[in-house]
Amino acid sequence: MTRVLRNYVGGEFVDGTATFEKVSPVDGGAVATVHEADAVIVDAAVAAARTALNGAWGRSTVAWRAALMRRVADRIEERFDDLLAAEVADTGKPVPLARELDIARAAANFRAAADMIVSKGLDSYLTETADGRRALNYAVRKPLGVVAVIVPWNLPLLLLTWKVAPALACGNAVVVKPSEETPSSATLLAEIMAEAGVPDGVYNVVHGFGSGSAGELLTTHQDIDGVTFTGESRTGSSIMKAVAPWVRPVSFELGGKNAAIVFDDADLDRTVAGLGRSIFTNTGQVCLCTERVYIQRGVFDEVAGRLAELARTLNPGRPEAPGTDIGPLISQKHRAKVLSYLSLAAQQGAECLVGGGVPEIPDELAGGAWIQPTLWTGLDNATAVMREEIFGPVAGLVPFDSEAEAVRLANDTRYGLAAAVWTQDIDRGHRVAQRMNVGMAWVNTWYLRDLRSPFGGVGLSGVGREGGEHSLHFYTSPTNVCVSL
Ligand code: NAD
Repeated sequence: MTRVLRNYVGGEFVDGTATFEKVSPVDGGAVATVHEADAVIVDAAVAAARTALNGAWGRSTVAWRAALMRRVADRIEERFDDLLAAEVADTGKPVPLARELDIARAAANFRAAADMIVSKGLDSYLTETADGRRALNYAVRKPLGVVAVIVPWNLPLLLLTWKVAPALACGNAVVVKPSEETPSSATLLAEIMAEAGVPDGVYNVVHGFGSGSAGELLTTHQDIDGVTFTGESRTGSSIMKAVAPWVRPVSFELGGKNAAIVFDDADLDRTVAGLGRSIFTNTGQVCLCTERVYIQRGVFDEVAGRLAELARTLNPGRPEAPGTDIGPLISQKHRAKVLSYLSLAAQQGAECLVGGGVPEIPDELAGGAWIQPTLWTGLDNATAVMREEIFGPVAGLVPFDSEAEAVRLANDTRYGLAAAVWTQDIDRGHRVAQRMNVGMAWVNTWYLRDLRSPFGGVGLSGVGREGGEHSLHFYTSPTNVCVSL
């Protein structure tokens, strides 16, 4: 059944003057009719957020907000199946993946934010001046204000709540712009917020696209106090320009061209399974996914062969079908982009080990954005396919000889989000991980997250860090008070 999704402003669901259709990446069928927010609705959402901040929400205590965040987490779990259905309909990802990764993490995000806000204090100093006077300096945390939250389609609810939970725990009011490809779970979250007792105007949702639509209207709005954004590096650059006139703070989690390094002493069973996850999870549509694999020459053929074998076993299918291991890409448009890189790789002389195009699928799925898991060899870091983010279940495999060469190749990118190092030499694991020019480096694992640890990237991969105390830093604006004693 096709859903109708409206904007959520000041505690009310609001129609737009225009609508757009969201279609399924699985078979091209209709998923939802979405009401697009125009300037009037975006204005109203920002105003509702401001009104909430100026009212009781702005005077709420930390303990009260922490309890509220826990109620939101409980309510997410109570409505787990609704959220699961919404997320799966929008993205086409296999049900077990959405269950374990997306929805469970949404509840965890709210609990982690509640824990953080009650447990982390701020600086205080007993100050002694050179002339013998004393003073007490202490900082008080205040919310940043009205925060624009702009998120992508790959892990819609997980990435949305990763930002909304700490923002609300810190006492901000948010206007959320979910991706046009995944409007459903952010809308359901509005119902959940109301059911949990989040006051009107604290959580607002505006639907639409980026440029010339709700995204641009929101980020160019004069009355927002900051933007937290996850998405493509190019979009981050546009948003940075949009907020420049008012010098608003930004937190950006952007794209990646992530490397894995496999040394010849690695446990190869564990490594091949780990690489399988890091290349193919969510059809390669996780910002942390590996697209470049550097393998020490002595084990290159074995690792490449076993990884290709693993890729061949991945079974595409409907999200709820028991044998499904891999879903489609998010849209036909995104598939066209990924396929263009696969053609480019072939033109530039890559040897395709597995995949390379569109899989054989039943007629009933022909309208979907299906793609084959693909691995190639034979291209170096000078080529566009090894330099640009593709965001699909694809990777280039490259041999190396020495540790120094591996470090140089992995760091030879304008991105800097994540890396994984596979070795049984623990000294080397620490050493190489620390030399990775990225925000997150894993040793003998991938995408194992502690929500208290910093998350973000360098270079084209982002600005700032979120996670744990780092989120508190972005979503608050401290005032230092100095009292002469
Ligand atoms: P995108 O940048 O196209 O869109 C992201 C969001 O921004 C969407 O809601 C979109 O409507 C909005 N938007 C687009 N143009 C805008 C503009 N000019 N002004 C305001 N808003 C605008 O990204 P996407 O294709 O949805 O997501 C995939 C990208 O996200 C990949 O590059 C991926 O690496 C990145 N990503 C990064 C992280 C991370 O944590 N670093 C996590 C997930 C995804």
